[in-house]
Amino acid sequence: MRVGIQSEMIRSELEEVVGQDFISVDRIDQLIYSTDWSWMPQMWLDRGQKLMPPDYIVQPGSVEEITAIMEIANKYRIPVIPFGGGSGTQGGALPVYGGIIVDLKRLDKILEIDEKSLTVRAEAGIILSQLEWAVNEKGLMLPHYPASANCATLGGCLAPRGTGTTSTKYGKAEDMVLNMEVVLPTGEIIHTPPVPQHASGPDFFRLFLGAEGTFGIITKATMQLDYLPETRYLRALLFDDLGNALEAGRQIMTKRFDPFVIRLYDPTETLSRIKKILGYELEGAYMVLGFDGDPDLAALQERKALEICTALDARDLGREPGERWWEHRYDFYYPPQSLKLPWMYGTTETITTYDKIENLYWAEKKAVEEGFAEWDARFIGHFSHWFHWGVMLYCRFIIENPPEDPEEALRLHNRVWNTAMTAVLENGGMINEHHGVGLKLARYMRRQYGDAWPFMLRLKKTIDPNGIMNPGKVGFGF
Ligand SMILES: Cc1cc2nc3c(=O)[nH]c(=O)nc-3n(C[C@H](O)[C@H](O)[C@H](O)COP(=O)(O)OP(=O)(O)OC[C@H]3O[C@@H](n4cnc5c(N)ncnc54)[C@H](O)[C@@H]3O)c2cc1C
Repeated sequence: MRVGIQSEMIRSELEEVVGQDFISVDRIDQLIYSTDWSWMPQMWLDRGQKLMPPDYIVQPGSVEEITAIMEIANKYRIPVIPFGGGSGTQGGALPVYGGIIVDLKRLDKILEIDEKSLTVRAEAGIILSQLEWAVNEKGLMLPHYPASANCATLGGCLAPRGTGTTSTKYGKAEDMVLNMEVVLPTGEIIHTPPVPQHASGPDFFRLFLGAEGTFGIITKATMQLDYLPETRYLRALLFDDLGNALEAGRQIMTKRFDPFVIRLYDPTETLSRIKKILGYELEGAYMVLGFDGDPDLAALQERKALEICTALDARDLGREPGERWWEHRYDFYYPPQSLKLPWMYGTTETITTYDKIENLYWAEKKAVEEGFAEWDARFIGHFSHWFHWGVMLYCRFIIENPPEDPEEALRLHNRVWNTAMTAVLENGGMINEHHGVGLKLARYMRRQYGDAWPFMLRLKKTIDPNGIMNPGKVGFGF
C-alpha cells in the first residue's frame, strides 16, 4: 500500500479527474474492494487475515475520465484494476499489487435500442438485469442470463467471456456483442468495427473478450437482442446411465434441434440438488430440456428431441419437474442453498469435444475424490452449455472440514485445484469455459497455450507497455 507524500499527490490528481465524491481511500472501502466472489480472499478475510487492499478506488463518470486515470497510472506506474459487480469467482478483480480500482458502475446508461436490427448499445457498467428489464419493455430480451445477472455488469460479462442459462440456443455473451468501445492501457479510446462478421481484416475486437481487463477497459458495447419468446416449453427426463444422457444431448445438438437449455445433472447432484427442488429422490442422471420461440416449431423440436431420449432409454418425467427446475434454477447460487464458509469449495468448470467429455468427467472425479479421500472430498457436476461440437462440464469439489489454519487451508485448496486442472488438461479439456482465468488459474495458462503462450506475452507487452493493467491476472504481469 502506498503511503506518504507521493501517495497524497496521486490521490489529489485522481480527485481532480473524478471529483471528490468519486474517490475513496477509506479503510472500509479498501476492505470491501479487496475481495471478489472467489473462495480464497473470502476464506482469508473470514479467518481474520489481511488482504492486499487497493490504494485508491475511483468511480469515473465518463470515458474521458478513464483516459485521464490511465495517464496518471502510466506516469506513476500504478496498477489499474477494472471492477464491475465484483461477482467474479476467479480473483480477477483483486488488487493483488495494490493500485487503482476503477469501479465502472457509474457508466450505466442505455444509449440506444434499435428495434429494427434488434440491438442495444449501453455503457459497460450497467447491471445486466437492469438492461434486461429495459429491453423487456419493448418485447425484447438480451438472452445472456448468468445466475449473477442481478449483480454482474455488462462489461464484467464480456471481459471473462461469460455464459448464461440459455446459451445452448442463444450463445455466450461474446456471441451477442457486435462492437465495443475500449480504453487502452495507453489511454487511447478505440472503437471496433460496427459489425463483427466481415472480411475487412483480422477480428482484433475479440482480443478484449477474455482479457479480463488486462488489455484495457471495455466502456460501451452494442449487443444483439432477440424477441421475447412466444412460448417456452420445459420438461424433465431421467437416464439410468450418464453416458446415454450425454449421447442424447450430443444427438439433439448435432441434429440442430435448437433447445434453449439442456441441463444434465450427474447422479450425485441428482440425488442432492434435484431432490431439494423436487422434494423427492431420483436415482440416475436428471436432464432438463427446454424449447422456445414459435409454438409450432418448438413443439416439433421437443418431439424430435424426445424421440432421441426415449431411444436411449430415458424416462420422460413430463413438464412439471422441468418447469419447477426453471423457477428454482438460481436457488443453488444463493443462501441458504449456496456453498458457504467454513467449507472449502471450487467450481472447476471445463469444456471439451463430445468424444472426450465422458472420460474427462470420470478422470477428474476420480482424481479429486481419490486424491483427497482423507478429506472426504466430494465431486459433483452437471453439463450445462452445449455446442454442436461439445459440452461444458460445471463441476464442484467440496470439502466440509478443511484445515482451520488459513495457510494450510490455502495450500490444500491449491492442491485440489492443481489435481483437478491436471486431470482436465491431460484429458483434453480447457481450464475453464466461462468464469475466466483471473488470479486463480493464471498459473495454468502456459500449459494451456503451449507454443502460443510466448505470442500472447508479446501481445500483452505491445498493448500494455508499462504493464499497468490488472497485473497478475490471466497469466500476465507477474
Ligand atoms: C452467484 C453467482 C453466480 C454466477 N453465475 C454465473 C453464470 O451463470 N455465468 C457466468 O458466466 N458467470 C457466473 N458467475 C461469475 C460472475 O458473475 C461473472 O464472471 C460475471 O460476468 C462477472 O461480472 P462482474 O461485473 O461482477 O465482474 P467483476 O467480478 O467485477 O470482474 C470480473 C473480471 O472482469 C474485469 N472487468 C470487469 N469489468 C470490466 C470492463 N468493463 N472492462 C474490462 N474488464 C472488466 C475485472 O477486472 C475482472 O478481471 C457467477 C457468480 C456468482 C457470484
